[in-house]
Amino acid sequence: MAKLKNLMISVSGVRGIVGEGLTPEVALKFAQAYGSEYGPGKVVVGRDSRVTGEMVKHAVWAGLQSVGCDVVDIGIAPTPTTELVTEKSGHAGGIIITASHNPKEWNALKLLAPDGLFLTAEQGENILKRINNDDFNFCQWNAIGKILKYDTSISEHIDAILALDLIDPQKIKDKKFKIVADCVNGAGGTILPQFFEALGCNVIFLNREPNGLFPRSPEPVPENLGQLAAAVKEHGADLGIAVDPDVDRLALVSEKGKPLGEEYTLALTTYFVLSKTPGDVVVNASTTRAIDDIAAGFGSVVHRTKVGEIHVADQARKIDAVMAGEGNGGVIYPKLHLGRDAPMGIALVLQLLAEDGKTISEIHAALPQYAMVKDKVALAFDADAKGAVAKLETMHPNDDIDTTDGVKFLYEKSWVHIRASNTEPIIRVMAEAPTREQAQSLVTQFKNEIAGIQDE
Ligand code: MG
Repeated sequence: MAKLKNLMISVSGVRGIVGEGLTPEVALKFAQAYGSEYGPGKVVVGRDSRVTGEMVKHAVWAGLQSVGCDVVDIGIAPTPTTELVTEKSGHAGGIIITASHNPKEWNALKLLAPDGLFLTAEQGENILKRINNDDFNFCQWNAIGKILKYDTSISEHIDAILALDLIDPQKIKDKKFKIVADCVNGAGGTILPQFFEALGCNVIFLNREPNGLFPRSPEPVPENLGQLAAAVKEHGADLGIAVDPDVDRLALVSEKGKPLGEEYTLALTTYFVLSKTPGDVVVNASTTRAIDDIAAGFGSVVHRTKVGEIHVADQARKIDAVMAGEGNGGVIYPKLHLGRDAPMGIALVLQLLAEDGKTISEIHAALPQYAMVKDKVALAFDADAKGAVAKLETMHPNDDIDTTDGVKFLYEKSWVHIRASNTEPIIRVMAEAPTREQAQSLVTQFKNEIAGIQDE
């Protein structure tokens, strides 16, 4: 990963604050490089609802057209929707314009391979090489790409979920669930109204307009879900759901108005999938150990990878996993596709509720209980985050250590995981333990140690 003028460049794309790092020129070059690598042909372009998305979109379109790629314009759409359209035959690739859960002043390009998965490290390096070498396949005037409108992506995504063996739409409809849904004015507003209607749910929407004006911090973590929690109680709903701006992360609020924590989105859906179809599970290194306990109950094996959707997806494909995901609310149900997908997660939760007959609180309470504390240490843009993380390892020579990603210190019933973020200039510090106090004390201890290293 390179860090350049307020820009985070990685193999999966480029992310920055618009106007400071992410300029039209940057978006243009990435699109030219991408189109040169995967074109000529049709490249799917979708975006979240950010105010800057329209500007970035035009730069991406021009870059793709200039190297002879037709743009398949699906408009504002969830990231998993763009992934599903990209993997359809006849499409050379896909680009998603979204900074996911980052604040509204950010935007980014996420680059997809023709199979609808994020680029692998090797694929991404080829794009960066083209940019560094100005290696673009510009075409002549009569081969410039066209803009092709594509209007059925949302309904195709919904239909694909409802057609899965595990999902029985009629059974969900019969329950007439009452739901409060918070879309944070992101792309969720483009799919969830139609999706819930197809499942016969009575929905109260919060922040449904896909206008990019996020009324709160857009990450669907408990501290940001106060409005949703209050609305669930006020309306006596069965469930509250929150999605991030590009709808690949899902968080749940119980009928009592209690956020269950995004780790439990994956725990609940994994529990349901394994109860129906036991098999291998793939999650990232910092996902809750509740997953291991749940899998053990079904005789299933859990495989852990580096943090990042592509690492989880890659491994899930290799071993033909029945379930996968990331504890940040990223549910991957491989039978649909190998991408984090909030509507897919919602369908699994509703099917679980419909079949189990208990409340979401009761089902949650029956699962293994752990508390996770997620924190971060902000860094200057040019700080050596990886060096600081490596130093921590040497400070604990006698601890049981897992270096799948960053460094994870493993204790008997708890762990603490420290890694440099791929997408922001921060070091993430996470700990999980049987109680919140224990997890918090681990986080505080290691944050102090990182501060000590930075002061050196
Ligand atoms: Mg996201």
